[in-house]
Amino acid sequence: MHYSNIIGGDAASGDGSVENVNPSDTRDVIGTFARARPETVDAAVVAARAALPRWSTSTPGERHDILRRASDEVLSRKDELGRALSREEGKTLAEGVGEAVRAGQVLAFFAGEALRQTGELVPSVRPEVEVAITREAMGVVGIITPWNFPIAIPAWKIAPALAWGNTVVFKPAELAPHSAWLLVEILNRAGLPEGVLNLVMGQGRQVGQAMIDHPGIEAISFTGSVATGRGIAAGCVAATPMKKVQLEMGGKNPFVVLDDADLDTAVEAAVQGAFFSTGQRCTASSRLIVTEEIHDRFVAAMRDRIAALRIGNALEPETEIGPVVDESQLATNEKYLAIGRGEGATLAQGGRRLNLDAPGFYLEPALFTEVRNDMRIAREEIFGPVAAVIRVKDYEEALDVANDTEFGLSAGIATTSLKHATHFRRHAEAGMVMVNLPTAGVDYHVPFGGRKASSYGPREQGALAREFYTIVKTAYVAS
Ligand code: NAD
Repeated sequence: MHYSNIIGGDAASGDGSVENVNPSDTRDVIGTFARARPETVDAAVVAARAALPRWSTSTPGERHDILRRASDEVLSRKDELGRALSREEGKTLAEGVGEAVRAGQVLAFFAGEALRQTGELVPSVRPEVEVAITREAMGVVGIITPWNFPIAIPAWKIAPALAWGNTVVFKPAELAPHSAWLLVEILNRAGLPEGVLNLVMGQGRQVGQAMIDHPGIEAISFTGSVATGRGIAAGCVAATPMKKVQLEMGGKNPFVVLDDADLDTAVEAAVQGAFFSTGQRCTASSRLIVTEEIHDRFVAAMRDRIAALRIGNALEPETEIGPVVDESQLATNEKYLAIGRGEGATLAQGGRRLNLDAPGFYLEPALFTEVRNDMRIAREEIFGPVAAVIRVKDYEEALDVANDTEFGLSAGIATTSLKHATHFRRHAEAGMVMVNLPTAGVDYHVPFGGRKASSYGPREQGALAREFYTIVKTAYVAS
């Protein structure tokens, strides 16, 4: 099947098309997808601007009803959407269905937020003057997303944008356009007026850049790598008019295991955090920081648990670890496996490319031990099923090592000590802290985001999402 761009509610072609394949079995072609050109972006912006006056003054009730209908459809089609996600991106069926459900929940949450818009009437310091503080839509929002959560991340950006009256030009990742296309189709079918939500598929450097440069877009919300994010932020500031920008980027998330931890809890959280979704999560526990006394027991238990993981075709229900997303990501993982060995770390488990029945991008989850925090495998985001164990003396050293990173997205600790759990919650330099839980795995109704190189700009998700998707207006009215 061929999938077109969607502009002004209609199918719009682009410059040629691209085939997208299933990473579990590359013989399985998902479809061909239109490639947008800068002119396609221009048409999408024209449609979004034309739709803005009507949508930004629509009632909260109308926005609520549309988002709610879209949520209902996503939830009622969760198995089909979950399958599409697994087929396109390689996450397991359970993870695919879980992501579809998450997208449905996010849409329902922001349907509610549409109804909760408030302002403030404040007495002025001057007599006979009232101050009204209100929030308004920003205008046209450009949304640029990565391939690893191809429905949930677009949903948690598009839903608040729409709930607060903005119109949208959305560019999904090149590797996962199908899930994005399905989401846009559902939202349009739920009753969005023409042009409120427009989909342009294509390459970041061409289509994404055209969005950054376009004078008809007021703001950009981006999730992806740090290198891309830095360029986007610079471009948004250099553009005329300057664009508001929100960036969610990478992580090198620490998971600390203390001597007093419950071993089973620590191992389960570490395995899930490091290897589920094939390690392709911004919140993956890629640094496992383990104190002396529990270190050898933890490593032995991790090796057993990793060896027992069922790796295979993501669409088989018993699979626990699917493929990585494509050949280039597989090559990046293998490059870092070689770097780790070259730096003197010990590859204690896994790391072999697997040739299964179907041609796909399979890699055994890999565990390095004897890693120092100054090694590249401890500092650079690999974005795959490769974790590094760093041995430390005590809690104080563990906290120092955990914070010694350019990133600051998620940080976890396994401990039965309330004192250490509380201290870590307060002092971990991360936007999200997990105690006896994997660093990956978040709720949908509370803020999501990090600090340092992991995030820039207002938080995503939860009620705080309004900080990005609205503009505050302060009006002084003399009577
Ligand atoms: P990426 O940076 O390569 O691409 C992300 C998006 O940006 C894609 O849609 C791409 O086409 C677009 N893009 C690329 N170059 C561009 C340019 N010059 N101008 C405009 N757009 C451009 O990232 P990816 O490989 O798709 O995703 C993996 C990265 O995403 C990892 O670093 C991961 O940690 C991060 N991520 C972060 C979060 C988070 O919330 N913090 C969540 C998921 C993924």
